[in-house]
Amino acid sequence: MKTARLVGTGQQYPIGKILCIGRNYVDHIKELGNEMPERPVIFSKPASSVIGEGEEIVIPAYSGDCHHEAELAILIGTGGKEIPAEQAMAHVAGFGVAIDLTLRDVQSELKKKGLPWDIAKGFDTACPLSDFVPAEKVADPQDVRITLSVNGEPRQDGSTSLMIHRVPELISYLSSIFTLSPGDLILTGTPAGVGPIKSGDQVVAEIAGVGKLSVSVK
Ligand code: MG
Repeated sequence: MKTARLVGTGQQYPIGKILCIGRNYVDHIKELGNEMPERPVIFSKPASSVIGEGEEIVIPAYSGDCHHEAELAILIGTGGKEIPAEQAMAHVAGFGVAIDLTLRDVQSELKKKGLPWDIAKGFDTACPLSDFVPAEKVADPQDVRITLSVNGEPRQDGSTSLMIHRVPELISYLSSIFTLSPGDLILTGTPAGVGPIKSGDQVVAEIAGVGKLSVSVK
């Protein structure tokens, strides 16, 4: 079973749903030529897709274009349904760093056909994830810098201040559709700078004051 660790507390949460937000930063929407959504774009990854610090990404043979997307991850500590935005932050146990790996070529084909994205987003190793920092240690999760480098070369450099749909709103909206439970994760979308990774690459994602995540590509 995959677990999310809350640093310094001894607490571990079995990972439940991994709910992901697409197109949540204007600059990333533009770089992919997508339309601006009215509501958050939602998809999910299975818990089986999670790998941890130092582990290896295995790009499936059916893709030739695996992209990194560095994202702020939210760990739900207290469950709920129809959570008002004003109370949403009380449901957060911690914040972490995630990489939403995306088989861009596969996803593009699926999008064209109007088909679900699961095989482009949910394959084994598609969700590298750091440990989580307790929520009270992050002064303002809506104002932290997100960076990602590949082999030491900077690729992504953004700020969570640029999110279109912000954390309380996302929790509120998601909880109106899915009952949230302790151990559920929310990946909040990626800033601009996404790009391909290949065999042998070292990928480091970092969110200031939240954590750092290093993985390699098999
Ligand atoms: Mg993403």
